[in-house]
Amino acid sequence: MELVFFSIKTKGIHNFARRLKTVFTRFGFTETKTQRALSTVVDALRTYHAEPTFFIPAVVLGRHPALMAKIGDSGAEIGIHGYVHNDYRALSAAEQHKQTEKAISVFNDTHTPFQGFRNPYLGWTAASLQVFTQLGFTYDSNDAVIHDVVDLEKFSPLLRSGYEKSLALFQAIAPSAYAVRPYFAGKLLRIPTSIPDDEMLFDRLRITDPQQVGRIWSSVMQRVYDLGGVYTLNLHPERAVLCKQALKALLSFAHEQPLPVWITSLKDVASWWKERSQFRLTLTPLAPEHWQVEAICTQRATLLVRGLVVEDQSVVPWFKGNSQVLSHHFTVKASRCPCIGLSTQTSQEVEDFLCEQGYPCVRCSPQDAQKYAYYLDMPEGLGTTREEQIQRKSELVQSIEELDAPLIYFGVWPDGSRAALSITGDIDSVTIQDFFLRIIEVQQSK
Ligand SMILES: [Zn+2]
Repeated sequence: MELVFFSIKTKGIHNFARRLKTVFTRFGFTETKTQRALSTVVDALRTYHAEPTFFIPAVVLGRHPALMAKIGDSGAEIGIHGYVHNDYRALSAAEQHKQTEKAISVFNDTHTPFQGFRNPYLGWTAASLQVFTQLGFTYDSNDAVIHDVVDLEKFSPLLRSGYEKSLALFQAIAPSAYAVRPYFAGKLLRIPTSIPDDEMLFDRLRITDPQQVGRIWSSVMQRVYDLGGVYTLNLHPERAVLCKQALKALLSFAHEQPLPVWITSLKDVASWWKERSQFRLTLTPLAPEHWQVEAICTQRATLLVRGLVVEDQSVVPWFKGNSQVLSHHFTVKASRCPCIGLSTQTSQEVEDFLCEQGYPCVRCSPQDAQKYAYYLDMPEGLGTTREEQIQRKSELVQSIEELDAPLIYFGVWPDGSRAALSITGDIDSVTIQDFFLRIIEVQQSK
């Protein structure tokens, strides 16, 4: 009865009783309700030529391979959501490895291609990242960013405490331009996911008005757009029909932004980030205040400039004071070299980080600091703990993004997009039987 205790511990007895009631309304004894829910999400995205990403525990996939094959054939991406629906934080590294291997073998046996892993309860550890890397995953989708879009003062202390328990469970961090971008941890791409998710809104705060949910999601989209990141929405398919109008409102809000929002699956985010990691910029001085720029990149690259004049190619206005250059070879006139100068003792980690963020850097001496858009001397690097790293990286990206100096850099997203939106959902159960089998399966997996 671990799930019961776990649920009571994290959701409270009232919520658990409520949850049991909703299980019988959201799931059926057959696959029909879940199939309809999954199709609702697939169809909503088709209007925008996009596909969702679903994550499913391997044991649930093993019981419903035909349904999932059909969903996969409709274009949806399917990723792994554990072997059973358990919290990896309670497992040793060896146990995480074993259970992930077992999950992979079920996906292989059912001929279900996969690239990504999302942990139940977003419960990842440092060991999980090693396991995912060793077992060849392209990305994970666990890093939670919490957006302050709900006025919690309006809710009762009981509901608020349930919401706060979710936050603690998800190890969520504050949003920043850095926090809402994907990043490589070694070979594994970490794609952030944004909360509050549907469960926090519907079941914790009991916000069930689709228009209100649509407004909350749209305000998260607005914030992610302003920061230039990815909004990974987690919408459990069991609430997809309830959320249909809210999802449509979010998609149309994203579509109506002045600059494109790339609506896409997580595997396509991962393949883009890999493609983008190869991009490089070289700046060759031609004359005083003039540089030749060569961008080594694919056609999809978004090449951006600010605070300078592009002399031989046209530019189009982009976000705030930035412009997009459509050519990859051009000359610029600028008061300073439009890239970042790094002191020789600044650690390689900082240079690699700036490169991943799309900013060109060159090593220079402190005497030449004034010749560059920005000069950095960071021998101490980016910190040792996760908190330190997040804080320093966020501050660094923010200061470069707000820089009032000439700069050439690669945008975060392809084809001039300002932000990305991925609609994802964890298929924790397909039927009522799955919901109750979860209790036994989690117990047996120990
Ligand atoms: Zn789940």
